[in-house]
Amino acid sequence: MPDLAYVNGEFMPIEKAMVPIEDRGYQFGDGVYEFIASYEGRLFMLEEHLDRLERSMRGLAFDPISRSEIKAAIFELAKCSGYPRAGIYIQISRGTAPRNHAISPGILPQVIMTIRPVKEIPAELREKGASAITVQDTRWDRCDIKTIQLLANSLAKQKALDSGCDDAIFVSAQGVVREGTSSNLFIVSDGRLTTHPLTNNILPGITRAAILRICEKANLDVEESFFDTETLYRADEVFLTGTVTEVLPVVRIDGKSIGDGIVGPTTRRIYDLLRKQALAGESA
Ligand code: PMP
Repeated sequence: MPDLAYVNGEFMPIEKAMVPIEDRGYQFGDGVYEFIASYEGRLFMLEEHLDRLERSMRGLAFDPISRSEIKAAIFELAKCSGYPRAGIYIQISRGTAPRNHAISPGILPQVIMTIRPVKEIPAELREKGASAITVQDTRWDRCDIKTIQLLANSLAKQKALDSGCDDAIFVSAQGVVREGTSSNLFIVSDGRLTTHPLTNNILPGITRAAILRICEKANLDVEESFFDTETLYRADEVFLTGTVTEVLPVVRIDGKSIGDGIVGPTTRRIYDLLRKQALAGESA
């Protein structure tokens, strides 16, 4: 089964896909993206991802693009690849123009997509739980827009790997715990879940939203409020959430054990509920 790409209306094998060197995404990071995954051939929370894509485009004042065209391309990729568990990456840049900070009038957005099998989190890591470091959040103050400017995220992830950990957690200069390098974060303390509120400092994760609704339905106590690193270290359970991450327990942060240092029951329960929902092909 082939890994495929879509470039401005055309489908091709991934290795044949090219963009011009003066694409503003390449030169200025002037682009937005989405990553959508399928379960047994059904794309999970597709409309929510497309809503966020449009929101990101509005956030950067891009001209709107027809949603039905984007959807048609997504479905075509999914059909042609035939992957039951596909990851579809969509990137829209402002377009191509001679390099200039000022934006050329009439520039047309450039849409690219790729489809590949999802690179799953290893089962062993899910079972034993992940380790993380905290890093100061040096990103810009519009992290609610899903832009392709991921350098701080990438460097933080690499710093975690270089120090023998699995991921990094962004913390503000004032000590507020924000999110992972490609995930949102929840803590469980005395049976109550807490996650950072939706502000300009975190991405409004689709999985985060799904989990808030799952908690509501399951009568789990959940709140969106700020908390600091001390509260993070003292939590009974910590987990990261994302389209690929799903629900990933974190059992060690900055060398300290979280709770008993093993995967907790609430994290397991929420993971099971999310998987059930995704495999049933329902939006949360
Ligand atoms: N925060 C960041 C910084 C991310 O990159 C991601 C993954 N796109 C998330 C949170 C989780 O978002 P989602 O649940 O929509 O995948």
